[in-house]
Amino acid sequence: MNISELLARNARKFPEKIAIIDGDAVLSYRQVDETVNRLASSLQRLGLKRGDKVVLYMPNTKEFVYAYFAVLRLGAIAVPVNARLTAEEVRYIVEHSEAKAVIAHDWIYEALAPLAGDFDLLWIKTGEAKDGWRSLAQLIHDGSANSIACPLQEDDEATILYTSGTTGRPKGVLFTYRNILSVAVMMALETKMDKDSRLLHMMPLSHSAPLHLFFIGGMYVGATHILSPSFSPEALFQLVEQHRITHFFGAPVAYLLAAKHPLLHQHDLSSVQYWTYGGAPLSAEEVRLVAKQFRTDRLMCLYGLTEAGPNGTYLSPEEHAHKAGSVGKFAALNCEVKIVDEQGREVPAGEIGEIVLAGEGTMKRYYKDEEKTGETLKNGWLYTGDLARRDEDGYIWIVDRKKDMIISGGVNVYPKEVEDVLRTHPDIIDVAVVGVPHPEWGETVKAFIVGAKPIDSLADRCKRFLSGKLADYKIPRLYEQIDELPRNATGKILKQVLRGMGDEAAA
Ligand code: ATP
Repeated sequence: MNISELLARNARKFPEKIAIIDGDAVLSYRQVDETVNRLASSLQRLGLKRGDKVVLYMPNTKEFVYAYFAVLRLGAIAVPVNARLTAEEVRYIVEHSEAKAVIAHDWIYEALAPLAGDFDLLWIKTGEAKDGWRSLAQLIHDGSANSIACPLQEDDEATILYTSGTTGRPKGVLFTYRNILSVAVMMALETKMDKDSRLLHMMPLSHSAPLHLFFIGGMYVGATHILSPSFSPEALFQLVEQHRITHFFGAPVAYLLAAKHPLLHQHDLSSVQYWTYGGAPLSAEEVRLVAKQFRTDRLMCLYGLTEAGPNGTYLSPEEHAHKAGSVGKFAALNCEVKIVDEQGREVPAGEIGEIVLAGEGTMKRYYKDEEKTGETLKNGWLYTGDLARRDEDGYIWIVDRKKDMIISGGVNVYPKEVEDVLRTHPDIIDVAVVGVPHPEWGETVKAFIVGAKPIDSLADRCKRFLSGKLADYKIPRLYEQIDELPRNATGKILKQVLRGMGDEAAA
């Protein structure tokens, strides 16, 4: 089924039901579906056709929804990108995806000015036509409301999502309709969404969890979607209260910011049935802090990665009571999980191995990268690059990413373990641990520290603090205080940037 058929089906089933709320705009399923038809017919008239790639450079707005569904309605391939990417980052994606069109929001289209002259393609923006950019509003106005029939098979290609590039150059992850629908169904069922659910979308819809799990999951059941172009704790509290939100998905960093916000307790957030988080770790202590501050026992952890749809495992609200910090025991619906050694054999409980996943959500391939596809998809399993172990009850605890593991003097150091301890130091706000080259040991451990104020004798203090808590070989030899950790557009720490900053000889 074409994903945009979900929208059309809802428009037939309950035309007047509210589909989208975007600021003051309140739109029914019938209105959204009709707008999508109009836009699709105009895009078709301009020559867009099945298989063409269309880059969407837009925050979470109603226009994103129109553009995304209109592209799919033509059988074209949507390439949503984070609205915070720079022109050069978008240039790479436009070039690599061989895009035929770019649709940008009026608020940010000017950022792409350096590109507009370099590519002969269709440039469309949401406001008025200007400087070679066509107007999306005009295209909607000029289009026909008749629906466009584009028969598609489940294995046809629907979307390319570029990974956030935490570990290198962004990779284009290609999904079929089957991939996306299978993870959307998973989310709708696992978090009990139905047509009365009210979903708040504050995380960028250009990423797999917000788009496939949360947005398409909600489309599956005909939920109401409340869109917010960005995240702030104040907006979160206000929108949850105003719209009696039932489901929210956020990155861990969003929960931590909100948990520490002074206005949190002035709002009634009790309508939320699922506070879902994922995409990065949240330690047991952090989970407890969030649960306490949010006064909720409805936290749900999702573990996955773009390449998996992002299907993977989950820790239910009930399991949070005794296994906070773990990513769960079972794979989510439509997925399987194993922890394996270098030979692909399942490791016993307590031993560290790599998480592998298999499921219908798993990407078809990396776009134009056969070598990486072959390294990642092996014997029907997706190799995640995440190292983890199961505890005696079978629960999975992520140890670290394979690429971040440090090998110092032949022994493995997992930065996350060191970071978790350093983070409990009262003067330390944030920390990242990386391996930097060392002439004798291969690599040595270095900690980048963010403090509320300059910390005197940083290395000595940290070493003293860690002594007795961690084995000597894990204790960083090098320390540097910095103002802020470098993060990408989704808030993940860019460890390769830190590694580049830390190549001094070891102490
Ligand atoms: P790139 O592949 O370009 O480096 P990225 O890693 O940021 O980009 P994502 O697919 O967004 O791409 O990130 C997936 C990774 O995030 C997982 O492999 C895992 O390391 C981490 N992750 C996701 N969910 C969780 C979770 N619940 N707990 C801990 N880590 C998680």
